[in-house]
Amino acid sequence: MNALSDRINNLSESATIKMAKLGRELSAKGVDVISLSFGEPDFHTPEHIKTAAKEAMDQNYTYYTPVAGYPELRKAIANKLKVENGLDYDASQIVVSTGAKQAIANALLCLVNPGEEVIIPTPYWVSYSEVVKLTEGTSVFINSTVENNFKITPEQLEAAITPKTKLFMFSSPCNPTGSVYSEEELAGLVKVFEKYPNIYILSDEIYEHINFVEKCVSIASFPSVKDRVVIINGFSKAYAMTGWRIGYSASNKEIAAACDKLQGQITSGTCSITQRAGIAAAEGGLESVHEMRTAFRKRRDIVYDLLKNIDGVKVNLPEGAFYFFPDVTSFFGKSYNGKTYNDADELSIFLLEEAHVATVGGDSFGDPKSIRISYAASEEKLIEAMSRIKNALAKLQ
Ligand code: PMP
Ligand code: GLU
Repeated sequence: MNALSDRINNLSESATIKMAKLGRELSAKGVDVISLSFGEPDFHTPEHIKTAAKEAMDQNYTYYTPVAGYPELRKAIANKLKVENGLDYDASQIVVSTGAKQAIANALLCLVNPGEEVIIPTPYWVSYSEVVKLTEGTSVFINSTVENNFKITPEQLEAAITPKTKLFMFSSPCNPTGSVYSEEELAGLVKVFEKYPNIYILSDEIYEHINFVEKCVSIASFPSVKDRVVIINGFSKAYAMTGWRIGYSASNKEIAAACDKLQGQITSGTCSITQRAGIAAAEGGLESVHEMRTAFRKRRDIVYDLLKNIDGVKVNLPEGAFYFFPDVTSFFGKSYNGKTYNDADELSIFLLEEAHVATVGGDSFGDPKSIRISYAASEEKLIEAMSRIKNALAKLQ
């Protein structure tokens, strides 16, 4: 008899986490690995946030918290949404979770019934399709490619809608492509959603501050759909707080109450000390965020210049997040040392073994033609990594 449930047997391991693990294992053997696999800012958490955490401990913020977060934190997040995004949310519409990851799982489990469809543009962040599996819903993919800057059109969206469609789910800025939907492009999608009032929208905005466009607009700023939007956001990327585990959703009150109920049965409120730090982050202004964004922009430009000069690599200029997602199909079927590489996942392993650079193959992002390169690393490391990648790819015949 099978000990494990079908649910877990059908679930894939997170590819980002797996590649980061492989990179670490190789490093532990003494190999000089440059890790560009993990989507994690390489900056330290800003001092004022760390100070708030230390004070929280001294002030005995060490007890269970309300499941959806301290009222002051939910208020600070609602205020952030007003000031930074021009969106009106009451604190009762915010649910704080253990990372944006949990906020996504909450929303999907609260909204999707078995057999219902969730539309996801490809490429998408690895966990989206896997969490849909946990709901026993069905992912319906819309393909985008490097040629159209990895964005879908309203026509593609409408063609994917069926009577079973429950949710549309996307990230902008996008992990893994860095694409950012403009206000006009979102308006085109909103026109479609206006025709289908029963479809909800999960808008993952965790990279909102890491964007190199003038304005990063939330789809929730369109009044005709706002009530059906679940905004997902968090502190991991903007404030370099990946290990603290804090994210949140903003939604209508019915969905917020449902997420609160679900979380109350699974994890309860996220860490009390982290939440106190979160208040300092949300109230502390965007100075440190903008400094990080400037550094990311410089790195993006450096990596773009190097990548586009590698023969056979097809790449676009990302407008946000900290990833490149180059098309590497021209290397498929090529060999080195008697081994042939037939897809992006195999090429990603080749780059780890041959160039000692960890990337992630595109398959788990719903696009087997590309590899994901995170540029959340120092300029020096990035320059060295691109040179190693170029040399390794040149060996493939
Ligand atoms: N959404 C996207 C698009 C991501 O890249 C990530 C990875 N950090 C998350 C959500 C989850 O973030 P966290 O759980 O660290 O808040
Ligand atoms: N979201 C990051 C990434 O895409 C971190 C890894 C993860 O949480 O899956 O690499």
